[in-house]
Amino acid sequence: MLNIVLFGPPGAGKGTQSAKLIEKYNLVHLSTGDIFRANIKNETELGVLAKSFMDNGKLVPDEVTINMLAAELDNYKQPKGFIFDGFPRTSAQAEALDALLATKNTSITLMLALEVEEDELRKRLLLRGADSGRADDMNPEVIQKRIDEYNAKTLPVKEYYQSQLKFKGINGLGNIDDIFSFLCNEIGM
Ligand code: AMP
Repeated sequence: MLNIVLFGPPGAGKGTQSAKLIEKYNLVHLSTGDIFRANIKNETELGVLAKSFMDNGKLVPDEVTINMLAAELDNYKQPKGFIFDGFPRTSAQAEALDALLATKNTSITLMLALEVEEDELRKRLLLRGADSGRADDMNPEVIQKRIDEYNAKTLPVKEYYQSQLKFKGINGLGNIDDIFSFLCNEIGM
């Protein structure tokens, strides 16, 4: 199986590149942000809980997020592989993911990180908010909180994969197709 963690701060282009990668490699796309938003839309109990964190730019607690992801993984019986988009976002989530994949006799192949500087992220997120109406992209304070959460809790996940020699950083600034080619080169297929 080809299991990729697509990593990067909010606004780095994970969603855009995931869409291209799943098409090329026939992978299952698991975006925890998308799953939370679907739960919010359907007004589930999980959605109500997640919304109270998301509206403030904070991470949803690990236990809730990990349980949700574990249930999602079980929905796919013989996948070619997964793209994890927006997960893991903490070291505890990274450890849980390794354990979950081990129960399925597989593991993470590679972490691909889209690297974009903060000023550019702020600009991109505000533009996306204006286009999509996504509440957490429209408020500069919430955007800053998400970037701060990323720096404090998510960046250490990079070291987790570096120590497993699975980390590859890619410049996330530039043309979408060029960035996609760089990602494919790293995947090497
Ligand atoms: P995203 O669409 O990936 O930018 O995620 C939007 C929001 O959903 C984040 O700001 C978090 O509040 C929440 N979220 C998504 N994925 C996770 C995760 N792996 N752990 C905790 N919270 C998450």
